[in-house]
Amino acid sequence: MEIITYPHPTLRYKSKPIKRVDAELLAIVREMFDLMYEANGVGLAANQVDLPIRLFVANLEADPDKGDEMVFINPIVSNPKGSEGDEEGCLSLPTLYGNVMRPKRVRVNAYNLKGEEIRIDIDGLFSRVIQHETDHLDGVLFIDRMSETAKVEVEDELDVFVTDFNSRRETGGIPADEAIVGRLKEWEDKYC
Ligand code: ZN
Repeated sequence: MEIITYPHPTLRYKSKPIKRVDAELLAIVREMFDLMYEANGVGLAANQVDLPIRLFVANLEADPDKGDEMVFINPIVSNPKGSEGDEEGCLSLPTLYGNVMRPKRVRVNAYNLKGEEIRIDIDGLFSRVIQHETDHLDGVLFIDRMSETAKVEVEDELDVFVTDFNSRRETGGIPADEAIVGRLKEWEDKYC
């Protein structure tokens, strides 16, 4: 398992809800936390590790010895209140940062790994992370939510990601679109 980067097609895939949790899924979640910590991240969505399932992990401290390890399965964000701009980054767009406006406070409903329902009203960094990660599950990246002017400033950096992705694909490091979709369907059949 590894973190895939822009413009990998799985990052644009709208994930389907998860219907069951098994030992393999628990192991996947553990590996996602480990990859997230390695990359110093506070959140990681399943499609960032090339899996089309509706789940993300988060730890606002980005440290396994601190903070809470949270797993959100089938999250739904609602009740947006206020609006706030702040800088965001993404493990699938390393070194790229930009200002994103988002609702300040939201409610999130989800399930944890035990199948228990989570329902919390959140604000600040927590709210931003949950919105960013839920976006991933819908195939949305934070660059999609940047203002047109802010996006112009990162255009060159995005081009570098595209060039790098294309060259890795040419050298066989990344499968063709059809192979990627076929693999995603297999995972969907298993969990969704
Ligand atoms: Zn991200």
